[in-house]
Amino acid sequence: MIKTISYLGLGTMGSGMASNLLKAGYQLTVWNRSTEKCEPFARKGARVADTPADAVRDVDLVMYSLSNDEAVEEVVFGAKGILTAIKAGQIAIDMSTVLPAASLREEEAYAKRGVDFLDAPVFGSKNESANAKLWIMAAGNKAVFEKVKPVLEYLGQTVHYFGKNGNAAAMKLVGNLIVALEMEALAEGLVLAQKAGLELKTVMQVVKVADFRSPLLVSNGQNILKRDFSPSFALKLMLKDAALIEKFGESLQSPIPALRLVEKNLKSAVALGFGNENASALIKALEKEAGIEVKARRVNE
Ligand code: NAP
Repeated sequence: MIKTISYLGLGTMGSGMASNLLKAGYQLTVWNRSTEKCEPFARKGARVADTPADAVRDVDLVMYSLSNDEAVEEVVFGAKGILTAIKAGQIAIDMSTVLPAASLREEEAYAKRGVDFLDAPVFGSKNESANAKLWIMAAGNKAVFEKVKPVLEYLGQTVHYFGKNGNAAAMKLVGNLIVALEMEALAEGLVLAQKAGLELKTVMQVVKVADFRSPLLVSNGQNILKRDFSPSFALKLMLKDAALIEKFGESLQSPIPALRLVEKNLKSAVALGFGNENASALIKALEKEAGIEVKARRVNE
């Protein structure tokens, strides 16, 4: 049974998950590159580690959610990384969005040390992470999955087993391909609605109930109308994911024509300086081209 856990990477997603592990009663160690993000966890009784190597000392399970491949490279494979200290019998789970090939490389490196590894990326964003309502996918050895499933169930509303290592990472990219296209569709739709002079609040009422509805369209659409672009899922991370999807699609010769267009718009929005805003700021690239700003009218306008 898992009793002691280390969580590395206390960003938007990791901080929510680590909080929920504490609430669930696990003995928690945390590590984050920017140390100030560890303070709230120290106040709640977590041990704060100095380095990733220090973090993995004497725990049953090591989990991490990091920005991208470079971060995983540093935290897992780096000079003071996890692999320098983790021991046979411990389990590692990467919850970041990375290429399936990157997960397989991690699995191979851990296996050499007798460590079991799962790739377990997630759907859901800041709120779902904070409220333990994530949708979690996991891949790797089935017996190891069964062992950690109760932990994952504390973090998410559903947990899906995907078979061999790399498959959960692949599913994450499949999902994010759909997310990217939905976000583009919403942005293009709202710009067109504004150009057509439609009342945008009424447009969103239809988006909320019609047969093409989705929670993602509703929450992002409502926030765009309020001009609230505070990050739950940063635009620069969506661009990072688009590049991963492109690479993955190409490696399998799977066509991704629409994704390529979205990637171009994401690049434009990042170049305009909106990379740290929410992914919905993708609309700002279209607004610039259209010469308008999508905004709900006030009652007396
Ligand atoms: P975030 O808020 O930007 O946090 C990123 C984390 O990675 C931080 O802890 C950051 O440390 C750390 N990091 C970045 N570069 C590093 C490096 N070179 N060395 C060590 N640590 C490094 O990102 P997030 O939104 O939590 O996303 C984390 C992962 O989950 C990403 O792979 C993302 O694609 C995926 N994801 C995100 C969402 C979402 O809605 N946000 C949803 C599903 C999946 P510092 O605090 O020091 O910067």
